[in-house]
Amino acid sequence: MAKLTDTLKRLHLTVASVDSWLPHEHVPWVIAGPCSAESLRQMLTTARGLAKCRYVKAFRAGIWKPRTRPNSFEGVGEPGLEWLRNVKSETGLPTATEVANREHVELCLKYDVDILWIGARTTVSPFAVQEIAEALKGTDVPVLVKNPINAEIGLWLGAIERLYTVGLRKLAAVHRGFSTYVEMEFRNEPNWPIPIELKRLLPHLPLICDPSHITGNRQLIEPVSQMALDLGIQGLMIESHVHPDEALSDAAQQLTPKDLCRVVEQLRARDAAIADRELKTRMARMRAEISRVDARIIDDLAERMKWVEEIGQLKHEHNIPVLQIDRWENLLEDHIAKARKAGLDAEFIKAVFEIIHAQAVRRQL
Ligand code: PEP
Ligand code: MN
Repeated sequence: MAKLTDTLKRLHLTVASVDSWLPHEHVPWVIAGPCSAESLRQMLTTARGLAKCRYVKAFRAGIWKPRTRPNSFEGVGEPGLEWLRNVKSETGLPTATEVANREHVELCLKYDVDILWIGARTTVSPFAVQEIAEALKGTDVPVLVKNPINAEIGLWLGAIERLYTVGLRKLAAVHRGFSTYVEMEFRNEPNWPIPIELKRLLPHLPLICDPSHITGNRQLIEPVSQMALDLGIQGLMIESHVHPDEALSDAAQQLTPKDLCRVVEQLRARDAAIADRELKTRMARMRAEISRVDARIIDDLAERMKWVEEIGQLKHEHNIPVLQIDRWENLLEDHIAKARKAGLDAEFIKAVFEIIHAQAVRRQL
């Protein structure tokens, strides 16, 4: 489990609120725009459409694109920064783009880009993040840190900490899912326990969800955005293109400005502050029940481990190997059958007992 350093504890208390860099009246607040800047015309027509949506508070566009494979469209570079300027002066929307090195940062500062983000492929590189942090020293530009492509929290926290250490306070984390080797329903697995753990460690750090890169599929933007809102996430980054199918990058996941607005209008924001006293009492009672069950599970696990150690001792005395694979297989089958009858998910129970069994084996060694 990740630990908070003293710096991260301070960060948690002194990080700026989203309102100080992106004022918004509605939840969700949305940063929207094309995956990549392609032309001035594409940028302006997309931005004009998005500016009509009351939830859209900033315009994004990738200027330098970190593509997984070479010979893909790698972004238009510096001219795109001029287009971002045009978007801002015409629509009034603050602008955002991705930076991956010092030169990108310097150019963004020169062209007054309002918000920067560090992409998933850069968060994994402490050298690159440090270089970006140092290039930003002395400014107070808001920086959004996307999670690293691999499913772990350390590099994510590390990148945030590096930016904080040079004096940046307008920070936020972006959950954009994690790559997997096997093909799944999503382009990048959401792996919700990781952003939830980040929220637990740093509850004041604003957290944004990027359903476009999680899903890779425009049809799934809505359910994943709703899931994010249900988990208390208030900001979304969603890709939008006037002609999504013709986009030079990430075509399958982009929505037209009109569709994006329709999707966002349908989302139901959850109210984090519970005003209703009776509701609060009911929830407190249910939470107490849940905690009671959790305590029972812990007691039961402790009792199970006690028996495990006793049998381990016996096996040792009689020279019997610790692991008996057929016993483990029967046990697992039996537990899964029982779990199914009880309405529990078989994969879930399998995962739970795999952890318990691994610990039991360890206790006997
Ligand atoms: C993007 O936002 O277009 C992008 C490249 O994102 P990520 O770093 O999350 O892949
Ligand atoms: Mn993209």
